[in-house]
Amino acid sequence: MAIEHTYDDRLVAFLDIDNTLYSKSFKIAQEMGVRIHAYFVSLGLSDEEASKLHLQYYTQYGLALRGLRRHYGVDPIDFNDKCDGSIPLEDILKPDPRLRQLLQDIDRSKCRVWALTNAYDTHAERVLKILNLRDQIEGVVFCDYLEEDFDCKPEPTFYLQAMQKAGVRDPTKCLFVDDSLGNVEGAKNVGWLRCVHFRETEAVEALCIKHTSEDQEKLLGENEIIVIEDLQQLRDVWSDVFVQTEN
Ligand SMILES: [Mg+2]
Repeated sequence: MAIEHTYDDRLVAFLDIDNTLYSKSFKIAQEMGVRIHAYFVSLGLSDEEASKLHLQYYTQYGLALRGLRRHYGVDPIDFNDKCDGSIPLEDILKPDPRLRQLLQDIDRSKCRVWALTNAYDTHAERVLKILNLRDQIEGVVFCDYLEEDFDCKPEPTFYLQAMQKAGVRDPTKCLFVDDSLGNVEGAKNVGWLRCVHFRETEAVEALCIKHTSEDQEKLLGENEIIVIEDLQQLRDVWSDVFVQTEN
């Protein structure tokens, strides 16, 4: 008997995690950068060599770990423990009730909510738990560091795997938000619709920025990527998936 895959006709909103579900002002990316650099140095490289190779691997492979694995045979779990795993996230990140409400206001009869991250699942789960959002996320698509040659955003295969995991066949049913424009373009390239680039501005900076709407028009004209500065704007750009409230 043929195995029937179960698919679901609802939309799926895929949300990036790092620097999207929390502000980049927490400087978690910098914490990660310091640890990844130290990892390169621990392999016997000088500071200068470490910086050069880190950039090279990031550019060439999308993630430093993929280069480290290929050329230095590093143990991905050791890497994860010493980099993402050693950041004192519990002391840095705080739940944001407005963000939780935003996810709660997504009408789940119309749209399911998944996370899509280039981190490993331990980091993803930890962040979602600290942010008090885990129960709002149906599933997490993460980089499987245990696979020999794992995929990551913005490779097309990674988005296609995400669809398979979430049980969605039609790419036009997929919505996406990420703070990396490259990742958003990757989603757009596999046919996901209404892809959103979350381009957070610093509070002070926001006061003097006047070019955003112009930039947005340019992006919309070129590849239909929507730019937002605050996740609450998802209520406008994906208005059909939110529960309608009075007033
Ligand atoms: Mg991110």
